[in-house]
Amino acid sequence: MDGGTMTMADARTRSGSDVHLVGVIGSPVAHSLSPLLHDAAFAAMGLGEVWRSFAFEIPGGAAAAALDAMRSAAVTGLSVTMPHKGDVARLVDESSETARRLGAVNCVLARPDGSLFGTNTDGEGFVASLARGSGFTPQGRRCVVVGAGGAARAVILALADAGAAHVAVVNRTPERAVGAADLARPVGEPVPSGGSELDAAVQAADLVVNATPLGMAGTTTGGREEWLVRPEILHGGQVAADLVYAPRPTPWLVAARAAGATTLDGLGMLVHQAAAQLALWTGREPPVEAMWEAAERSSPPSG
Ligand code: NAP
Repeated sequence: MDGGTMTMADARTRSGSDVHLVGVIGSPVAHSLSPLLHDAAFAAMGLGEVWRSFAFEIPGGAAAAALDAMRSAAVTGLSVTMPHKGDVARLVDESSETARRLGAVNCVLARPDGSLFGTNTDGEGFVASLARGSGFTPQGRRCVVVGAGGAARAVILALADAGAAHVAVVNRTPERAVGAADLARPVGEPVPSGGSELDAAVQAADLVVNATPLGMAGTTTGGREEWLVRPEILHGGQVAADLVYAPRPTPWLVAARAAGATTLDGLGMLVHQAAAQLALWTGREPPVEAMWEAAERSSPPSG
């Protein structure tokens, strides 16, 4: 793994022509856990000498140049994070149906013929993390998702595809909730914030998800006054999940746990979306438990 300002051409020069290169593109990317997860997986698969992962700092607006660099440095796979997911979706040669519906790609595979295939593993990563972390399966369940950004949209689509009975979507900017809920048609429904309709949806829900950055370390937002779902109205028998994984848990999850809900932080989604990417790049079963151990070591829970 390497961070900072390394280019894909540098990574190729440093690694030699026989090594399979993968990496993550984003900005800022130095904090990304992806190379650590990838390298832990390669080591556990016995591929540590022939597969390597790097972090590539790519400024906003430079996704096309990054994909050109991917081709010329013969990089096998890229994980894509903020702010490039939408741009990469428009630039790849072919996309999965999920990426097309979301308009966002978080994983690119360079095929042997040189074409680039884009997909999005965030939603399947979330659903897999629910199963591993809390034994929760969405089939027939009622869900509330807070947020309508890229991560929320992936979660909403995945919950609907996994058979959720109802997916209520609430967002600070209500118009965005309408478009996001549409992804889960016919079970998706936008719900206005701050009213009895939201309280009723939350109390009837089996799963409540925070898919906003509220509570994330290093941000100035996340105070109780900004929470769209009051954790006091949660109760036993419900799962409260937060996509944020720094800190573990967020203040909202702490409050949800105090109200009796089973809680799940965002580290599992990170691990499982990366595992799905590894599977695509290597064509092999990813060592999810080894990836979990690496993630837990680098980001231990604080409470
Ligand atoms: P995004 O596209 O920028 O969307 C942000 C969402 O949060 C929007 O719905 C936005 O509402 C809402 N929001 C932002 N600030 C808010 C505030 N102060 N009060 C209320 N709502 C607020 O971001 P994203 O890519 O969806 O990411 C969301 C979070 O998920 C981030 O913390 C990210 O780190 C995390 N994430 C985790 C994983 C994982 O693997 N665990 C994967 C992807 C993302 P408006 O529409 O009103 O602006």
